[in-house]
Amino acid sequence: MKKETLAVQAGRGDDASGAVMPPIHLATTFQRGNASDLVYARIDNPNRRALEQCLAALEGGADAMAFASGMAAAASIFQSLRTGDHVVMADDTYFGVRELMQNIMGRWGLECTLVDTTSLEEVGAAFRTNTRLVWLESPSNPLLKISDISAIAALAKSHGIEVAVDSTWATPVLQQPLALGASYVIHSTTKYLSGHSDLTGGVVVTAPDVTLQANIRELQGTGGAVPSAFDAWLLLRGIRTLHLRVRQQCSNAMTLARYLAEHNAISRVFYPGLTSHPGHDIAAKQMSDYGGMLSVQVHGGEESAARVAASTRLFTQATSLGGVESLIEHRAPVEGPTTATPRDLIRISVGIEHIDDLMKDLEQALESC
Ligand SMILES: *Cc1c(COP(=O)(O)O)cnc(C)c1O
Repeated sequence: MKKETLAVQAGRGDDASGAVMPPIHLATTFQRGNASDLVYARIDNPNRRALEQCLAALEGGADAMAFASGMAAAASIFQSLRTGDHVVMADDTYFGVRELMQNIMGRWGLECTLVDTTSLEEVGAAFRTNTRLVWLESPSNPLLKISDISAIAALAKSHGIEVAVDSTWATPVLQQPLALGASYVIHSTTKYLSGHSDLTGGVVVTAPDVTLQANIRELQGTGGAVPSAFDAWLLLRGIRTLHLRVRQQCSNAMTLARYLAEHNAISRVFYPGLTSHPGHDIAAKQMSDYGGMLSVQVHGGEESAARVAASTRLFTQATSLGGVESLIEHRAPVEGPTTATPRDLIRISVGIEHIDDLMKDLEQALESC
């Protein structure tokens, strides 16, 4: 079946009542010897099981493991490695994941090298005898760097190294990392998959025969950073309209990116759909469209960026992304003093509102530049 159909049908299951949509199973414990083999809600639950079936189907994976947040999903991969293992990580990885790796996992004895993964040479040069994993994020947060997933996966494979891709910004609609040779796909399901900014969640989807799948599954049930039955239900509900939302977000973002690229208050637009973007050709090859996220640098520096982000009326000034509503954020202050993000950068999560209203709002906000 096509992905659009799977997004609607996968994990629907059967309910004895004939209910077309699934009930929420709040029970924490299940009678022994039941038909579904369920035992205890931390280990598994019908809503989580249905969600995982759907996510595995959407990414073309062998298995999917749902977590209470995107960070918990990332942590499950890192914690499945051993002390002394080395990870090559994209330098523009989401700052929380970078901090998790460098600070927390560093104390556990994981080694990490940050590299610009838009360069295949830099990735290869960072490999050591103890390298176990390459961590990519494409498009990356917040600079929308594009990494060549199939080229990096082929290079890593020739060294016996696995590749994980944080595909949160691309969604399963626009990019299929497992089909490109990756072993693991990670999503913060808080973002596009949920789509309504009303739950926190994460998932790891695995290709067949990867080395860390059993460890991740064990960490899920024993570590216990699992989504509630309600969050699993709500997330599956959100996924049913993923394709429609993402299509509209891509269309709106492309129009806004072209408009902003011509605007004299803007010094630079980061959007892979623009032919001027350094990763455009690779994005065109590995993505079916360019996503709903874009970043811009404004003339007038940090103060100007802060003013514009505070001047929109329709775009809400808030962090996070991927919801139906448009958000705008002056990014560097959120990432703290160690950030490498340019001080004059504004990040925009484009929603599904009418493009005319979005354009009009940005136009009036940019007058404050
Ligand atoms: C938000 C985000 C995360 C973290 O996910 P949470 O659900 O907030 O824990 C990881 N990676 C990317 C790319 C994100 O945008």
